[in-house]
Amino acid sequence: MPLLETRFDVIIVGGRPAGATLAARLAQGGLRVLLLDRATFPSLPAVSSPIIYACTMALLDEIGADEAAYAHNTPKIRKLISETRDYYRAIAVIPEDRGRDYAYAIDRARFDNALWEQAAHTDGVTALPGFAVSDLLWDGERVIGVTGRRHGSHALENFHAETVVGADGRWSLVARKVNAPLYNVDDAPTTSLYYAYWRDVQPYDLDEPLMIAHGTLDGLGYLTMDSADGTTAVVCEAHTETIARFSQGAGEPEALYTALLQNAPRIWARLQGAERVTTVRGLKHTPNYYRQPFGAGWALVGDAVHHKDPLGGQGIYDAIFSAKAFAEQYLAYKRGTFGYITALSRYKEALEAETLPIYFNTLAARANLNPPNAFQRLLGRYLMESPEVSEVLARVPARMGSADTLMTTRRILLTVAKGVAWDARRTLTSEMSPSAVPPLPSERAQGVRETSSYQQRLGCLGWLFALPAIMMFNGLGALRRKG
Ligand SMILES: Cc1cc2nc3c(=O)[nH]c(=O)nc-3n(C[C@H](O)[C@H](O)[C@H](O)COP(=O)(O)OP(=O)(O)OC[C@H]3O[C@@H](n4cnc5c(N)ncnc54)[C@H](O)[C@@H]3O)c2cc1C
Repeated sequence: MPLLETRFDVIIVGGRPAGATLAARLAQGGLRVLLLDRATFPSLPAVSSPIIYACTMALLDEIGADEAAYAHNTPKIRKLISETRDYYRAIAVIPEDRGRDYAYAIDRARFDNALWEQAAHTDGVTALPGFAVSDLLWDGERVIGVTGRRHGSHALENFHAETVVGADGRWSLVARKVNAPLYNVDDAPTTSLYYAYWRDVQPYDLDEPLMIAHGTLDGLGYLTMDSADGTTAVVCEAHTETIARFSQGAGEPEALYTALLQNAPRIWARLQGAERVTTVRGLKHTPNYYRQPFGAGWALVGDAVHHKDPLGGQGIYDAIFSAKAFAEQYLAYKRGTFGYITALSRYKEALEAETLPIYFNTLAARANLNPPNAFQRLLGRYLMESPEVSEVLARVPARMGSADTLMTTRRILLTVAKGVAWDARRTLTSEMSPSAVPPLPSERAQGVRETSSYQQRLGCLGWLFALPAIMMFNGLGALRRKG
């Protein structure tokens, strides 16, 4: 059925986290909004195996989104584990933030549907699912609308608005059509990522919903996250060339994904007897960029304006934050507080202030996917064994502090000093480290005993001898690379 109206204040292309929340905010501010998406909801979700923290939920509270709907039957995750093989682990408790002390590994199909419904039922929003925008409409240099087709129809339909907003994800059609310049691009090295959801995953030794990051020290990182309806998301990410090592003779994503999982014995052990309930999905060569966020008659929000490696799990927060920042400034422009250029320059500033620090952290973390040398392993163990560092681990992704301010040089030096002292004590007393990784319940049932791995047995004396040698080798390596 044709829409009664074809002219709006704002047209938003894309109706997931950025687009749906933007539509709700602009309409709550009194504008008439057309929200378009080529998908119909609930739909196959965007490629994403996501975790959201209290900061994201607080932004959703502002538009009245219903947590019981977007997180229906989804367990509350209160602890994040970071384990390195079966050598050592850190357990971080999620700190309370505005009344919530938990995160969710949400089901994206359910989450996106809840946000779409929330927007569609907001006065002032006309929501049209199943409409694929194929081009923009122009008046000279200015964008004045969109053209496209409904699913199953050949007829083109035009809609007009003062501003067209691209909330259409990382391959944004709006961004391409307006030729929005890219900046802060950093794609070397690129990473690739594969994931699927599983049911009946074998328990971990802590009997509660968890997010577990697992490193194998050979350049591969894994994530298991307890998600909706008793499923567990199992993700593997690495530099694209590291992943390519596993793809020889295993062209299909399923076979590649299986080979990656088999490389991590603790992950693979938990999947014995489990059923994979989704196809394997993924992203090759994850892009990292910002785009010029506005021009005459157009603007960008969400992944369309800024995308980064999903390593840190920040994309949804940033998408919803960009929608908020845009809405605040655009409504200020409409009220006459600022001119268009001033208002949207303020949007750009707010977006960068909120997202740039975590962007650079993510790029640094991506570089850290390289297999560590012996010195980095030692430092890594000291850091992971420290309760203070565990606290930082939980605060950074929850946007409750930046890694730079939390991990000061003083704190690192203190942590290393404590680590050396702990090692010395363990050498003398044969005491187990509290960060030792206990066997999985399934391994225990097979008679695997509590064991201190080789890392736990090493005392500081050995390391004190080894350290100068390692540093010398590092120095020689650097000299050779320079030469
Ligand atoms: C593997 C993976 C894991 C991730 N994990 C996390 C995580 O743990 N936590 C987190 O916060 N983020 C995570 N992210 C990032 C997160 O998924 C994105 O940042 C988020 O989905 C961006 O939302 P968006 O609304 O900007 O775009 P999208 O969710 O991509 O939505 C864009 C919408 O635009 C529509 N569209 C596109 N073109 C057109 C067109 N021409 N006409 C009409 N409609 C169109 C699409 O149908 C789609 O519905 C992950 C991403 C990946 C790839």
